[in-house]
Amino acid sequence: MFGTTQSRNVVHRLNEKGYEAVFVGGAVRDFLLGKEPKDIDIATAATPDQVKTVFKNTIDLGTEHGTVLVIEGGEPIEVTTYRTEGTYSDHRRPDEVQFVTSLKEDLMRRDFTINSLALTLEGHVIDPFEGKKDLAEKTIRAVGYASERFSEDALRMIRAIRFVSVLDFNLECMTKDAITKLGNTVETLSTERIKKEFDKLFKGIASSRALKLMTETNLSSFVPLFPSDIESFIKCAPFQNELEGWCSLMIAGNYDASTVAKAYKLSNKERGFLQDVKLYYEIRKSRSYTIDDYYKADFAVLKIVEKLIGVLTDLEPLDESAISLSIEALPILSKHELAIRGEHLMKWTDKKPGRWIGEAITAIEQAVLHKRILNEQNAIKEWFSNEYKHKK
Ligand code: ATP
Ligand code: MG
Repeated sequence: MFGTTQSRNVVHRLNEKGYEAVFVGGAVRDFLLGKEPKDIDIATAATPDQVKTVFKNTIDLGTEHGTVLVIEGGEPIEVTTYRTEGTYSDHRRPDEVQFVTSLKEDLMRRDFTINSLALTLEGHVIDPFEGKKDLAEKTIRAVGYASERFSEDALRMIRAIRFVSVLDFNLECMTKDAITKLGNTVETLSTERIKKEFDKLFKGIASSRALKLMTETNLSSFVPLFPSDIESFIKCAPFQNELEGWCSLMIAGNYDASTVAKAYKLSNKERGFLQDVKLYYEIRKSRSYTIDDYYKADFAVLKIVEKLIGVLTDLEPLDESAISLSIEALPILSKHELAIRGEHLMKWTDKKPGRWIGEAITAIEQAVLHKRILNEQNAIKEWFSNEYKHKK
């Protein structure tokens, strides 16, 4: 049976009030593929206002697009009124959205046949564009004329290739040709939309084939910073997560972290991660890691650096267990693990708090890390009183 109890309740309540309502989109596709559906989308003939009268607890997600968030049993469920999209003058956003009463019209505006399937509460599949056949044949095919559909919204071209990656499907000929012809129009898209699709593309099982398709269709020339050394980039695939994909793009393309971060509006956290990977990749190309490197670097960073070292250089990469062993051999993993605090130093010296505490802690941290002293209060006190204080 499809859907969560909450999402089934929502469809049931709409049906009860006389409104046609069905499950649509990626969740139906994934269900028919025997995969766990993620976010469940519901489409209905009811207008947003009608949806709001059926449910007590709703949030508007942009009534102009017809999406209302229904909170059912504590769970948010997206309910979207059947719609078509008017004309597209800029390759990316419909100029107007029109609500329609026919499900078929709603399915017609969707990108690929495998994404234009609907499912009723009773489990009946509505499939006007032979999406089920394409699912069985592992084919990504645009609904209707591919060139028209890609002229309406250029993002669909990148989505086509990300579905190749995620589902391990193939691009149907006309769909592929249309991408080759219209690829330049992705330049009009917002970086945020491209980034979201790339995150998914990188995580897909067939990412290596998807990256090849990016170059075969020449889409690679029109998205920011796609490495010209495509062979290197492809060699890095598959990726364990999206960050590994972004790091591979950076290293294969020989970019700085900030260049990639700026071009794709990465979050501060993502930018920081890329910066670290770049730093330790450069270090590792010139020498082995030191104790300080192991102490400062994240395990996840070193893991990716070693993978890239193995793929892109002639150096022998360290495996995960070797990295873990070196990290486990460290006496401490952070200064919070030191056996002393600032208060101890004040007690031992009778001095007032000040900058000296931070400096002394850093010196103790280094001494403990490099095993010049044990991480024990007495040992630290002795070292601090006899060696550190006098040297200062
Ligand atoms: P995922 O499993 O990654 O969420 P999805 O197919 O559900 O994949 P969404 O971006 O969540 O992708 O979109 C939900 C549905 O909306 C799609 O299945 C498709 O029917 C439709 N859709 C999304 N983006 C577009 C687009 N740019 N053009 C046409 N239809 C789209
Ligand atoms: Mg989805």
